[in-house]
Amino acid sequence: MSKGKVYLVGAGPGDPKLITVRGLEALQRSDVVVFDRLAGPQLLNHARPDAERIYVGKLPDRHTMKQEDINQLLVDLALQGRTVTRLKGGDPTVFGRVGEEADLLRRNDISYEIIPGITSAISVPAYAGIPVTHRDLASSFSVITGHESPDKLDRSIQWDKVTNATGTLVFLMGVSKIGYISEQLMKHGRAPATPVALVQWGTRAEQKTLVGTLRDIERKVKEADFQPPAVIIVGEVVRQRETLAWVEDRPLFGQRVLVTRARSQASELAAKIDELGGEPYEFPVIETRAPKASATINAIRKALADAEAYDWVMLTSVNGVEFFFHWLDRFSIDIRRFHKAKFVAVGPKTSAALAARGILADLLPENFRAEGMLDRLDGLVKPGQKALLPRGDLARELLPNELKAMGAEPVEIDVYETVFAAPQDLWLPEMIANGEIHFITFTSSSTVHNLLQALRQLGIEDPAAALQNIEIACIGPITARTAEQNGLHVTVVPEDSTIDGLVQALADRRRILKGE
Ligand code: SAH
Repeated sequence: MSKGKVYLVGAGPGDPKLITVRGLEALQRSDVVVFDRLAGPQLLNHARPDAERIYVGKLPDRHTMKQEDINQLLVDLALQGRTVTRLKGGDPTVFGRVGEEADLLRRNDISYEIIPGITSAISVPAYAGIPVTHRDLASSFSVITGHESPDKLDRSIQWDKVTNATGTLVFLMGVSKIGYISEQLMKHGRAPATPVALVQWGTRAEQKTLVGTLRDIERKVKEADFQPPAVIIVGEVVRQRETLAWVEDRPLFGQRVLVTRARSQASELAAKIDELGGEPYEFPVIETRAPKASATINAIRKALADAEAYDWVMLTSVNGVEFFFHWLDRFSIDIRRFHKAKFVAVGPKTSAALAARGILADLLPENFRAEGMLDRLDGLVKPGQKALLPRGDLARELLPNELKAMGAEPVEIDVYETVFAAPQDLWLPEMIANGEIHFITFTSSSTVHNLLQALRQLGIEDPAAALQNIEIACIGPITARTAEQNGLHVTVVPEDSTIDGLVQALADRRRILKGE
């Protein structure tokens, strides 16, 4: 058996978008992903669905796996012929012990790549508005570990040399040693008024910054009970934050927003949350798929075989479009056989999906509930006409009923079905308990039912009670009713039942909560 390959990948500081393209490609290509909590669980969404995910971090009943064991694990996996990605927080070469991992791989004659990442040493200050160098203020920077015990710190850090440099000093793993560090720096000649910043959980929803001077920072850290992980920045560049701070101003800063839609549909919502400075957290509880029951498949085959007979094809969702074409392909039916039919596409996303397939809809209503839409259709649809309605299994009855009332013959086919997606991310219950989820978004009734079911599967007995301190946002009144019926207290429902409307409503709600 040929040996596999190991990618030692820098995952960046936490924001899952701060991984390199090369790192992402390695992740997407791997059979196995070895990760811990600092190298964000959200990045695993990019791994192949069938890839094995091995967590080597801390669990309630287990310490972080020992470095030697991780090294050996990488070797064993590669010897099985598998392609492995080892995700590491920040950059793997900056206090990441990548040397030890690479060394053992080399000794076992296993090929590897070290893929750099964005180290927290520069990115976390940047997210706090602090550039580590500056034309006038700092022409160098040093990255220093603060992890060691004081005597070892003294041996590994030449305080006199470090201190005399005019550059910025960046300490990682130093929060508990802040008193000792500032003392040494002052003792060796840095002015007590030198600005210092600590940035905790940079690039994540929890990002917090504390600013002081060498003289008072220890006291401030104690007063604020400031906890690791944090990056400590010492030097004049810290003052740049007064003018350059940027993340805190964004409307959804500090808010982690759970996205429950199917993975295939989640990206637009996630991107818009991200744009407003929130942290989308994807936890898909539904997935759409082609039905498997033979009765359903036969009904689809029969309905599509009649292509020439339809006067109308009415598509009400992007999924409807995608799966309509899926079945045409499956049964080798040329779309031109629908030459007689006019196409209706409800909503801009649906018509765009249709246009992408080369069909420009004849009628593009915003939605069927919109004032006058059904009346308008009433004028166009003639008695006896046949309308094909490719849709999901949860579609509502309004449209077919109205068509019947107009004397037309609707033919409904369930081209896709919505099913429960079993939870893959095991951290959610802990995040909920810790108050790390601030908003939950529901975009359909099934997302409500399925999230509650997923939480039960993850061991939460009374999910509605567990969610009571979280802001619940529903895309429209029907979803909101389902949520309320299930014991959730809904605080956000946009007037306009679209993704844009939903995200805007989140920002509005946030402003109210902040008392603005
Ligand atoms: N290889 C990593 C550093 C590992 S040492 C890198 O290049 O970033 C772990 C230390 O990194 C933490 O103790 C903390 O000082 C820092 N760190 C990593 N991610 C951080 C984050 N998001 N916010 C603040 N500090 C972080």
